[in-house]
Amino acid sequence: LVTRMRPFTSTIFAEMTALATRTGAVNLGQGFPDTDGPASMLRVAKESIDAGLNQYPPGPGMPELRQAVAEHRARYGTHYDPDTEVLVTVGATEAVAAALLGLVEPGDEVVLVEPYYDSYAASVALAGATRRSVGLVEEPGTGRLGLDVDALRAAVTPKTRAVLVNSPHNPTGTVFTRDELAAVARLCVEHDLVAITDEVYEHLVFDGREHLPLAAFPGMRERTVTISGAGKSFNCTGWKIGWVCAPAGLVGAVRAAKQFLTFVGGAPFQPAVAHALRHELGWVDDLRASLEDKRSRLSAGLAEAGFAVRPSEGTYFVTADVRPLGFTDGLELCRELPGRIGVAGVPVQVFTDHPEAWQHLVRFAFCKRDEVLDEAVRRLRGLG
Ligand code: PMP
Ligand code: GLN
Repeated sequence: LVTRMRPFTSTIFAEMTALATRTGAVNLGQGFPDTDGPASMLRVAKESIDAGLNQYPPGPGMPELRQAVAEHRARYGTHYDPDTEVLVTVGATEAVAAALLGLVEPGDEVVLVEPYYDSYAASVALAGATRRSVGLVEEPGTGRLGLDVDALRAAVTPKTRAVLVNSPHNPTGTVFTRDELAAVARLCVEHDLVAITDEVYEHLVFDGREHLPLAAFPGMRERTVTISGAGKSFNCTGWKIGWVCAPAGLVGAVRAAKQFLTFVGGAPFQPAVAHALRHELGWVDDLRASLEDKRSRLSAGLAEAGFAVRPSEGTYFVTADVRPLGFTDGLELCRELPGRIGVAGVPVQVFTDHPEAWQHLVRFAFCKRDEVLDEAVRRLRGLG
């Protein structure tokens, strides 16, 4: 194995899901829903298979999906030409990798917000670039994990090429505010940086919050590669349909890398996702409302079990401080939890370059049926 990939041999999701399966634990580790997406979307996928849409789709993605993605993005006031400014990818994961491979030179620096989704560091390494991670900071009083704008500014050097921003944020559940995003935008404009945004949880924002795409901020459309996907909005994480929206020059760079990673993917799922984007956003509103309740349900349960729970403003996830229960190391605890009480979580420190600063937090997924969450909480109460 090449040196640059040695830190990335196994993902925490594989480890914790295997452990959960082996021990019969309730798996609140890997984030995936345990119910299906909208029935009409599933029907279109089945009909597409029956209609013979089983060969390679067009390189940029099927026109009807690119059109639906462009129409959907217009709701934020950002407009893209479906023919030249939209690219369908094999999930957001491929989009992030292809964006970095197509836009970042070896030796360039990429700024990540820490903790970061695990594929970012691996993709930066694949591109031969160097990551500089800037930690979220806990806000006094609320415990919200917010953006440290000064630290972000300090992380930019003459070698910085891109900033990768994920909001709503995995693993913390933070939804960046207008002020936080405006600060990122100003920094990108000032230093002529490319912004790569991961917005896969765009619809999963709680308590009346609004999802704000970075591309909609002044000076940002021309320099932003916006990434999203269907998995989280329509409960179809296994379909791996993602997309990129950006000006033609940037999309062309992403496509150059993408075409040699997978070429294309997901033929029968593309019309199904196009249908869902056009006709099932009401279903997504219900999903959001249900996840908001689940967020509150699991957060309350974790607090009862003795964790210090951090606010979750969106996504599938809530983080909890394990120190009030007498533990110090979340990784150790997550390796122990399934065997000891039958619940799996994910330690936040594995998403960082500073594990010692993050070892007190564990991430739990609440995108599960209520009875599953209640059973997890019942078991977690045994910890205290
Ligand atoms: N980005 C984030 C922040 C995620 O949480 C996930 C899914 N866990 C992905 C990207 C990957 O998305 P996809 O399955 O579409 O590749
Ligand atoms: N995105 C999901 C999570 O954060 C799972 C992704 C994966 O298994 N690679 O839990």
